Amino acid sequence: MRFLERHKVGIDLGTANTLVYMQGKGIVYNEPTVVAINDRVKRAIAIGREAKKMLGKTPPYVRAVRPLKDGVITEVEEVEQMLHLIMQKIGVSRGIFRPTVLIAIPSGITLVEKRAVRDSLIKAGARDVHFVPQPVAAAIGEDLPINLPHGNMIIDIGGGTTEVAVISLGGVVRCTSVRTAGDEMNEAIIDYLKSKYKLSIGEITAEEIKIKIGSAAPIDPEETIEVKGLDLSVNLPKTITVNSKEIREALQKPISEIVSAVKKTLEITPPQLASDIIETGITLVGGGALLRGMDAALSRETGLKIKRSKNPLFSVINGIGKMLSNFAKYRELVEKTS
Ligand code: ADP
Ligand code: MG
Repeated sequence: MRFLERHKVGIDLGTANTLVYMQGKGIVYNEPTVVAINDRVKRAIAIGREAKKMLGKTPPYVRAVRPLKDGVITEVEEVEQMLHLIMQKIGVSRGIFRPTVLIAIPSGITLVEKRAVRDSLIKAGARDVHFVPQPVAAAIGEDLPINLPHGNMIIDIGGGTTEVAVISLGGVVRCTSVRTAGDEMNEAIIDYLKSKYKLSIGEITAEEIKIKIGSAAPIDPEETIEVKGLDLSVNLPKTITVNSKEIREALQKPISEIVSAVKKTLEITPPQLASDIIETGITLVGGGALLRGMDAALSRETGLKIKRSKNPLFSVINGIGKMLSNFAKYRELVEKTS
């Protein structure tokens, strides 16, 4: 039995990061959701960190793409190739026992896209494929009492989307998904530096600035960072210094869009469940939860208690791991797509 149990694989297919859990081994893959395709040979030549390094730096016949740009699969074939390579990498594509795969996907994914994901996992060696909504997996990862008749709210700020879900009795009662999350914050920083300093920077630099000095509420002391970019007025490289106050100003719009999504979800939440949420608070997960002051800003705007996960990048995969260890208990939460 233990031997068989090792052949269960869980996947968190995020718009920014893909994580894979293997029963008995733990997390065996944690890399950016990026794939580099060589169009001459029509084949993926790199995935993950290696492919992310190529973003914006490829020769004409190589494309480094993020195939899940806005919470939907924009490049189906590329996702298939990426999943195939991941299965190969973790060594489950050739075993005698083909694994059962449980995969958490963004709520915006259509049935057709789900089938494409399932088919590519089967082709890559999976015996069967089950789906779970990401907010449900995250709630399990955070040990929320989701099987009780009690309203639990979870906010997941990822790369491409922010999903706000209310879960009770194991089901998603209300869910709002907006295309404003980490990527949009990066874009906001790019736009800000362009309009204020005529400085052009790439996505990767913007993300570094956000992670190093980004914030949603004042920090003490405020910080600065040197930024290298292209001075658009003379088309030459230039280095400038920006401070955390400026970056906070840049991030104001995406953050207020995230706040609105939360407020909107609270408005449409049935009153009985809303009162549970008022009592127990909201759980914040996803990489965006790491933005300094994000919890404080959400708490100030909603008047509710915000509990930030200790490990927000791992909530979903940890939930999947728990589900795989006790598949019988969570059976009803899982969908099988035919
Ligand atoms: P997804 O589930 O969509 O793949 P993740 O939950 O992995 O997304 O979160 C990725 C996002 O979190 C990225 O936009 C990344 O820039 C952002 N992020 C990661 N660390 C931080 C940090 N310390 N501060 C702010 N944003 C962060
Ligand atoms: Mg995620």
